[in-house]
Amino acid sequence: MSTTTIDRTVDLMVRSGALMRGHFKLTSGLHSDEYCQCAKVLEHPEMAEELGRLLADLYRDEQVDVVVSPAIGGIVIGHEVARSLGVRSLFAERSETGMAFRRGFRIEPSEKVLIIEDVVTTGGSVRAVAEAVTAAGGETVGFGFIMDRSRQPLNLPAQTKALVEGRQMEVYEPDSCPLCEAGVPIEKPGSRPESG
Ligand SMILES: [Zn+2]
Repeated sequence: MSTTTIDRTVDLMVRSGALMRGHFKLTSGLHSDEYCQCAKVLEHPEMAEELGRLLADLYRDEQVDVVVSPAIGGIVIGHEVARSLGVRSLFAERSETGMAFRRGFRIEPSEKVLIIEDVVTTGGSVRAVAEAVTAAGGETVGFGFIMDRSRQPLNLPAQTKALVEGRQMEVYEPDSCPLCEAGVPIEKPGSRPESG
């Protein structure tokens, strides 16, 4: 990924408040020095469109027939990627067994599918989307993320690209947190910090 793309992505995320530096209490109870709420950048349509275009650029040389995203976090960025590539945009929703297509969404046999998500950490959601794509007869040709925050190899069943990767936040146990020790006030962000 070019430095320009990384810088531009981080710039948009910081400017929109999607990426914050400080001292945060995560839902896991751990403390961290950075917090990411990707929805904050996607609330600005012009920023969502630009990020969608940057992500689409990563796959512009490949054959992609349809973009699929996991609901809810991936829907907006998936739609923008699809707009930029000039293809359809679908989303999959959680079901009892994983992810499923509802609302009459269909993938035609052998259609080439690009799976898009805002932030990836464990890859659980997008892996389940890929299974739903396979079950529907499609072929997953790649995965694209605004941010890849995985700590373990994702081992997804197709190539994986992200606008920003390897930007790890530091996490600390509350009783050995250097930010607590330094007396930095702690914030508790509103919702789940990251989706799968
Ligand atoms: Zn702390």
